[in-house]
Amino acid sequence: MTKVLISGASIAGPTLAYWLRRHGFTVTVVERAPKPREGGQAVDLRGAARDVIERMGLLDTVRAHHTGVVGLSAVDQRNRRVWSWGSDLSGDSGGIIADLEILRADLGRILYEASRDGVEYIFDDSIIALHEHAGGVDVTFASGGSRTFDVVVGADGLHSNVRRLAFGPEPGFVQDQGYYKVIFATGADVPLDDWQLMYVMPGRRRASLYPTRGGRTRGMFFFAGPEIDHDRRDVQRQKRFVADAMAGAGWQVPRMLESMWDTTDFYIDREYLVTIEEWSRGRVALLGDAVFGGSAGMGTSMAVVGAYVLAGELAAADGDHVRAFARYRQVLDGYVRDNKKPMPGGKNLFLPKGRGMIWLGNQTTRLMLAGPWRSMLTGDLQGKAGGVTLEDYAGPGKVVDGASRREDALQ
Ligand SMILES: Cc1cc2nc3c(=O)[nH]c(=O)nc-3n(C[C@H](O)[C@H](O)[C@H](O)COP(=O)(O)OP(=O)(O)OC[C@H]3O[C@@H](n4cnc5c(N)ncnc54)[C@H](O)[C@@H]3O)c2cc1C
Repeated sequence: MTKVLISGASIAGPTLAYWLRRHGFTVTVVERAPKPREGGQAVDLRGAARDVIERMGLLDTVRAHHTGVVGLSAVDQRNRRVWSWGSDLSGDSGGIIADLEILRADLGRILYEASRDGVEYIFDDSIIALHEHAGGVDVTFASGGSRTFDVVVGADGLHSNVRRLAFGPEPGFVQDQGYYKVIFATGADVPLDDWQLMYVMPGRRRASLYPTRGGRTRGMFFFAGPEIDHDRRDVQRQKRFVADAMAGAGWQVPRMLESMWDTTDFYIDREYLVTIEEWSRGRVALLGDAVFGGSAGMGTSMAVVGAYVLAGELAAADGDHVRAFARYRQVLDGYVRDNKKPMPGGKNLFLPKGRGMIWLGNQTTRLMLAGPWRSMLTGDLQGKAGGVTLEDYAGPGKVVDGASRREDALQ
């Protein structure tokens, strides 16, 4: 039976594990964190990704965890609404809040629970070496062991470890977008009433409050500036760096900074666009943010769709990785090209420099929301999110057939 090792147990990893298992593969997932990672804000499942979730029988579960957020409002320093983009534009019409909007940690947990039966999960470990030969890939783990797999998949995010080991150092494969994003648990002194609030301030900085079920609030900061070389494990130093960058800001920022110092639920990263050309090399393939990362709002959807197609093509090719990886690319190429897009206008529109640009941005958005140009705000997001035909690789009845066909072929 084909043995697949997946690095990363967030969104792409467990989705791939689920489908590979259903197709009869032997699956191991290795995750660096000691347990499925908490944290993050909301992620959206759009178009074809929603179909994959439905095929997994998870649509109702994911829906039950909808964040409950009804729209996005830009506010001024005194928390007065400048414009509001409400749920009348949401869901299938391609608005800002997807029909399936869910906290990243909730989705990760749901996918992990759905996939763990029959899948070997190894937490608190990582791959440190890959050696490919005619019979497979010898994998050495940080914990000391070594095992051989037929296929290895890097579903380990923007800073993919597998990508580094199999393809080369990160700087060759990512494009820095020039700003930081910070996500953390926070309190707020203003009522949110199920709305996400966003405050854009001069000096290329932006803060946001995001309500979640149970009254918990997620805070977000974005700020531009050169990349600082800081130790990823030194959280106190990272928080000092954020506090300095956001110093002197108004609205709820002082309150948010106060919460940030106390929380253990803290995430910081640069915004990157992944630019790697190859999706696979030999017996190693990349999936999710490791290869599609950096899109505005479609990262999770591409991870889920990519996992479905990669698993399906491996099954359809009876584990022949050469055929399967070629088809994986062929099926998804156009879909990924359409959806792997950074924020329109880049840093200059997302994080304007001065008050004039902020005013202009707000007036333009107001005008577009009021007129027949609304759809231009998101582009043809929903159309592009559905821009791939998902083959029915395995209706439940075909799973067993698929597995036995492979075994027959091996005899
Ligand atoms: C903590 C966190 C918070 C996030 N918050 C948001 C958010 O608020 N909004 C948003 O749109 N997107 C967020 N993302 C990104 C989002 O999850 C992805 O864009 C998307 O869902 C694709 O997921 P992925 O599984 O490809 O990558 P990721 O979700 O980035 O997951 C990669 C996984 O690989 C693991 N990993 C990393 N290195 C190794 C290694 N050496 N060995 C083994 N495992 C490793 C990581 O711990 C992680 O579990 C967040 C990601 C993380 C990890």
